[in-house]
Amino acid sequence: MTESENPWEWPEDVWRGKIERVRAGETLKPKSWPNGARCAVAMSFDVDHDSNELRDGGHSIGAMSRGQYGNRQGIPRIMEVIRRHDIKATFYVPAVVAKLYPDETRMFVAEGHEVGIHGWIHERNSVLPAAVERDLQMRSADVLEKISGKRPVGIRTPSWDFSHVTLQITQDMGLLYDSSLMADVDCYRLLMDGEDTGVIELPVEWIRDDAVYFNMNRFSALRPYTAPETVFDIFRREFEAAYDEGGHFQLTMHPHVTGYRSRIWIFEDLIRLAKDKGDVWFATHAEIVEWVKANA
Ligand SMILES: [Zn+2]
Repeated sequence: MTESENPWEWPEDVWRGKIERVRAGETLKPKSWPNGARCAVAMSFDVDHDSNELRDGGHSIGAMSRGQYGNRQGIPRIMEVIRRHDIKATFYVPAVVAKLYPDETRMFVAEGHEVGIHGWIHERNSVLPAAVERDLQMRSADVLEKISGKRPVGIRTPSWDFSHVTLQITQDMGLLYDSSLMADVDCYRLLMDGEDTGVIELPVEWIRDDAVYFNMNRFSALRPYTAPETVFDIFRREFEAAYDEGGHFQLTMHPHVTGYRSRIWIFEDLIRLAKDKGDVWFATHAEIVEWVKANA
């Protein structure tokens, strides 16, 4: 029997099956963080660079130049802050970006940061045929390992979304964690059809993503834009509440979005704010997941 196009006609097993395919299981909130820290801070960068334009089959040289800015100016500005404050961060790198800028990808790992999977060419993974998605996800991990010398243990899907098979692929690859879903503020176990997959989710949120506040559509008369001060205030409140709750604060930024003279201070002021608390643990996403897996 084929599935009705009208959701209100679906029998319960159909709509329940969709819900149950990938579901949040047990919350993994540790009683404490390493060295008695009250809060963990997970800073991440989606190193999309030129791949955002390539992903849609684009050929805008102007758009690609904005991507290249991410490599030439964005990452150096970000790394300068990271080195000065001596913190750890996670960089999710599409395979094509790692091939374009292998020295950059190698540098992340050489300086003690984490490099995670972020698709092949930033493809919309959740709308691909299952076999294609599997091939790209596996090849992406191989490329990152070959270039950086380290096998990635985590993935942030380029779509920030899953297809019907994404979690199965991630489980088959033996990855420690995913960081693309949004069912909680704390880490949680990922269930597939009601069964624990062993994969941990470290959730993201669009609220904690720089791009949604700063990107614009050049050919639209309407250009929504949030002032950097307001963006900082949103992130600050997310951090303060995470600290008060003894949880973790996770943030996603992009080198070609935050790595500008007028915006990089947002990142640095957040680090200062967290450091001023005195008991905050800056860690990679993988370190946080390993900790909650063992201590929650
Ligand atoms: Zn991305």
